[in-house]
Amino acid sequence: MAAVVLLCLALTACGGNASGNGSDGRPVVLTTFTVLADVARNVAGDKLQVESITKAGAEIHGYEPTPGDIRKAAQADLILDNGLNLEAWFGQFVEGLDVPHAVVSEGVEVMSIAEDSYQGKPNPHAWMSPVNVQIYVDNMVKAFSELDPQNAAAFEANGKAYKAKLQAVQDQMKAKLAAVPKNQRALVTCEGAFSYLTRDAGLDEVYIWAVNAEQQATPQQITEAIGYVRANKVPAVFCESTVSDAPMRQVVEATGAKFGGVLYVDSLSETDGPVPTYLDLIRHDSQLITAALSGAGS
Ligand SMILES: [Zn+2]
Repeated sequence: MAAVVLLCLALTACGGNASGNGSDGRPVVLTTFTVLADVARNVAGDKLQVESITKAGAEIHGYEPTPGDIRKAAQADLILDNGLNLEAWFGQFVEGLDVPHAVVSEGVEVMSIAEDSYQGKPNPHAWMSPVNVQIYVDNMVKAFSELDPQNAAAFEANGKAYKAKLQAVQDQMKAKLAAVPKNQRALVTCEGAFSYLTRDAGLDEVYIWAVNAEQQATPQQITEAIGYVRANKVPAVFCESTVSDAPMRQVVEATGAKFGGVLYVDSLSETDGPVPTYLDLIRHDSQLITAALSGAGS
């Protein structure tokens, strides 16, 4: 009897599902950050165990993996990364690991960074367009089906249902932001992370620095932001949840613009915070931006 139980534990196949390295025998999918983990869970349903390497609130561009992360990755059945140079640490991280990995941004229409030393490089924040995330979903369905072919139909169905939600949140986001008055349609943030969202919503994008990987906020960058806000009478400016808002507070002080609030882009919040899911993230940001730029904000 004991021998049979031990055998089951060892093979993790007695339940009849695909065997994986998860604590409950399901295959383990590891993502580089929380946004991808949430999207992946929507596609995986209960068939796979999905976890994020970086935790809610973490800075993800220049993250330094711990030995524990590397152990976890070595035992994963599949690793998902965003690609487009988002995870500067990722190449070295998976080097030498015998674990398949999939780049979920593959196939999106890439926007380039317009300024700074990053000029011409891809802007990695493609998930800030829910239309792009529909492509992420397709890539996940494909990767999950290769990992666990028995559940391919479930991944396909989950993906289809979630893509409908993504389209709905995209439509809501655009409708909401359409209400921002004509002369106030500029989104001023700390990182240049909103290029895809501002493209979709028809806003101008202004930022202090291009990519968090080299977050510096030089005096010149702050002066330029101040100049733009003054010249365009921008009513409110924003900063993101994973970085210090001190540079943007300087812009606020110098211009009299309001601090419009904290936007989420590189990370979800904790479960009890304002954006526990990706769909919440898009709803939260579009609501906050609309309210602050329309003068209805706090
Ligand atoms: Zn970022």
